Amino acid sequence: MKIASYIRQSFIDWPGKTCAVIFTRGCNFRCGYCHNPSLVLPSYYKGQTNIAQEEVLQFLNDRKGWLDGVVISGGEPTLQPDLPELIQSIKEMGYPVKIDTNGSRPAIIEDLIRNQLVDYIAMDIKTLINRKCYYQVTGVNNADLMIQIKQSIEIIRQSGIPFQFRTTILPDHHSPYIINRLKNQFAYENYVLQEFREGETVDALSSVY
Ligand code: SF4
Repeated sequence: MKIASYIRQSFIDWPGKTCAVIFTRGCNFRCGYCHNPSLVLPSYYKGQTNIAQEEVLQFLNDRKGWLDGVVISGGEPTLQPDLPELIQSIKEMGYPVKIDTNGSRPAIIEDLIRNQLVDYIAMDIKTLINRKCYYQVTGVNNADLMIQIKQSIEIIRQSGIPFQFRTTILPDHHSPYIINRLKNQFAYENYVLQEFREGETVDALSSVY
């Protein structure tokens, strides 16, 4: 498991919960605004060592009773082949688990749901779900990706577990027309528009503790 970093206590990553946040390394998108380039770009993280999974699990074990849950974020956590095993270990300690995902791996999301390994899913809707718009935001120019994103949305909608869809708004990529279409498309769901903020999330938050 490629764990780049973890936050020991966060009040903002899972609505209503005090949680730890695990950041996995590696992502299949290249969003120009990414807050976590050191998790995404091999040229940034080359030579950096991953945090041992045992260290994180020991920390979580020590914090039982103090934390309400664990968030697994990234990077893109569904790229990690041993994600289910990590979550299983966390859930055996009694923690509910939330994952943050870009929605590119619907089969993984479906398996996690089917095996009752996730209690909350937050999925990024990067922009309008068409190839041109997604390419502009993520740098990925792949027709299959649009199918995968739509599948993930439907799997999450039908899952019966709490979820959130969210879009980070950048004036360069999200015109008022795009924003309105997204708001209409995801009306009546837990959908949030997030303002883009400068800065590197992991470095800034890691120093809090
Ligand atoms: S999907 Fe998330 S982690 Fe990956 S490049 Fe985009 S913003 Fe960064």
